Amino acid sequence: MDWFQAHSRALPWRRTPTLYGTWVSEIMLQQTTVAAVIPYWEKFMARFPNVQTLAAAPESEILSLWSGLGYYRRAKNLHRAARMVVDQGRGGLPTCRKEWQALPGVGTYASGAIASIGLGEVVPAVDANARRVLSRWFYDDPIAAGNLRPSELEELASRMVLPHQPGQWNEAVMELGATLCQAASVQCSQCPVLDQCKAGLAAVALEIPPPKKPKPTLAIAVATLVVRCEDKILLLPPGSRETVDLAGKWELGRADISGLNHGFWTLPQTPWYLATEKVDKVLDDPTFVRLWLRGRLNLSSAQIRACLMRKTSFGHSITHHRLGMRAWEIQIPEHYCNVKLAQGIPGHFLIPSTDTPVSKLVTKSLERFFEGIV
Ligand code: SF4
Repeated sequence: MDWFQAHSRALPWRRTPTLYGTWVSEIMLQQTTVAAVIPYWEKFMARFPNVQTLAAAPESEILSLWSGLGYYRRAKNLHRAARMVVDQGRGGLPTCRKEWQALPGVGTYASGAIASIGLGEVVPAVDANARRVLSRWFYDDPIAAGNLRPSELEELASRMVLPHQPGQWNEAVMELGATLCQAASVQCSQCPVLDQCKAGLAAVALEIPPPKKPKPTLAIAVATLVVRCEDKILLLPPGSRETVDLAGKWELGRADISGLNHGFWTLPQTPWYLATEKVDKVLDDPTFVRLWLRGRLNLSSAQIRACLMRKTSFGHSITHHRLGMRAWEIQIPEHYCNVKLAQGIPGHFLIPSTDTPVSKLVTKSLERFFEGIV
């Protein structure tokens, strides 16, 4: 605890901790680094300083503020949970771990962290950092010797929580994992628990837990269409299934990406294909764009010839997928701008705004062509 007081990182949600601020930070920090979360947390708290403002906001605005942080289901669950809290009309946030756990998006770890840090409840909070520290600390304990199951870790951690400072204790263990006791580097000689730590004393910390095989990176090829009419862009609403599908034409292999980016407005886009030379060639050639303009925007050959087209390429990573993106910009001449979209296309020509939240990938595509557009 002394070590934590002297060395804990100055994080914005620790400045003047509140139950609500702790909740938001814990949800944002799931599967995301502290450095990435800080600016999002600050923006989010400035716009939604309490659960009432969060519950009253439209989902599109929350997604818009969350855009770029990834794992958008977290934002949707946070919003749903805020509405549940306000609808229940109890006048405040849940008052114990069990109640927190009943909210969408709040699992075993998050409920433990929120209840111990925000409410002082004597419960453990075992995230990946704490899991690593405890596995090393007790590595030759009869319970901890094997691969500890989550329930066993939870039990081990709950025996250690300091009853008079449960939140600080949990934070201190997690902070050790985030700083001195990382997966690929340890500083045991500076660690406050070295004299008790089995792995530290045996100098085998880096072998525990055994490293997991990383998921192999998958190279994906995909193209997106930025169709412009003056300053408006063709955007498809959340949940749209419109795709610029090439599979029938060129028999390409597809990658499965179902469920990603749900909740955002998108651009017309091809499915994700496993990158091959053949796929790259097809996506770099404007033929498929022309076919789509004819089939889905009902443009005639003369109208298509009058469109200005240009392409840009860039890389983008989503989980273990490495995307080779092509963004095709198609400028439809002003006098054709009343194009009638083919039946079934749910899109609209719009100027992107907070009412039409777009994913980071779409933002990147648009920024290639228009500086500061979103
Ligand atoms: S002594 Fe080393 S292995 Fe043990 S908790 Fe500290 S940093 Fe981690």
